[in-house]
Amino acid sequence: MRAIRGQMRAIQVKKAGGPFELVQLPTPQPGPAEVLIKVIACGICGGDEVCRSGLFPGMSYPRIPGHEAVGTIIARGERVGSAWAMGQRVGVGWHAGRCESSEACEHCRRGNFFVCVKATGTGLTVDGGLAEYMVADQTALIPIPDALDSVQAAGLLCAGLTVFNAMRLSSIRPGDTLAVSGIGGLGHLALQFGVKFGYRVVAISSSASKRFDCLEKFGAHVFIDAKQENVPQRLANLRPKLILGTSVDAKSITDLTPTWPSDAQLLILAEPPTTTLEIPYIPLLFNRNSIAGFTAGTSADAEDALRVADMVGVVVQTETYALEDAEAAFNTIRGARYRRVVVM
Ligand SMILES: [Zn+2]
Ligand SMILES: [Zn+2]
Repeated sequence: MRAIRGQMRAIQVKKAGGPFELVQLPTPQPGPAEVLIKVIACGICGGDEVCRSGLFPGMSYPRIPGHEAVGTIIARGERVGSAWAMGQRVGVGWHAGRCESSEACEHCRRGNFFVCVKATGTGLTVDGGLAEYMVADQTALIPIPDALDSVQAAGLLCAGLTVFNAMRLSSIRPGDTLAVSGIGGLGHLALQFGVKFGYRVVAISSSASKRFDCLEKFGAHVFIDAKQENVPQRLANLRPKLILGTSVDAKSITDLTPTWPSDAQLLILAEPPTTTLEIPYIPLLFNRNSIAGFTAGTSADAEDALRVADMVGVVVQTETYALEDAEAAFNTIRGARYRRVVVM
């Protein structure tokens, strides 16, 4: 394989607690089972805080963040399979790869690739996509549907995958009610997938200004203004089967605890800045309700999420930035309306 010489511009976090810094680095070279990708677009996400904080086990610095990358394959290692061609457009999400089948861990032997003992985190234990080039293991690659724009695809690789996978792996069925709390990056995609999947969709937001977007743009059937209305009471009346908690406000998560009969589930998809939550557990006991956590998925899950989003017309609301503005884009993320994507 021809060696690619030269340098690239990249964003690096140099130490725990450090900012996103623009640096020049040698262009990386793919290993035998890896490809080299020329990055087209990469999302910036609240989840990048995990890279900046250094709290993820096994992290080391410096590290290139970025777990929502889309680009083109420009070099292939000698063991890369025929599924991945030169010039092909691919994505890379959080899940940065797993065991090869010849040496599979106990989880991979059972098909549970998400918890592979060797599972690495893009932008955490291996470098991510906030760079002009990145290398990725072939088991991490996600084919991008031809009709799907690269910025749209990047916007779906973390938030879209998470809400799509959470819904399809839960027990909610068409005709049931879905509640989505927090209408940002995750929430605006959850509303759209939920409507397309045939649920009655309830949007819960503390921003009254999002009422119009929720009901008119994203298709929600009910809007609850969390500042003005009693959320636990409204939910007890609406009885959602599944509640997606995408807000980082700990109190709002407590308010989502399902108290009605029965088999309702609250899935926590965001990380509030606390390690414990106050949960009224008695209604869980008597109504067989549950609270669980959920994150993202594997490359195969992301492939499905992108294909379905393209098929049914889920549209990511994006704001685009240049690579050198990554730090500014991250710092204003709490004020971002939906998704931020860096375009190379
Ligand atoms: Zn494994
Ligand atoms: Zn993310």
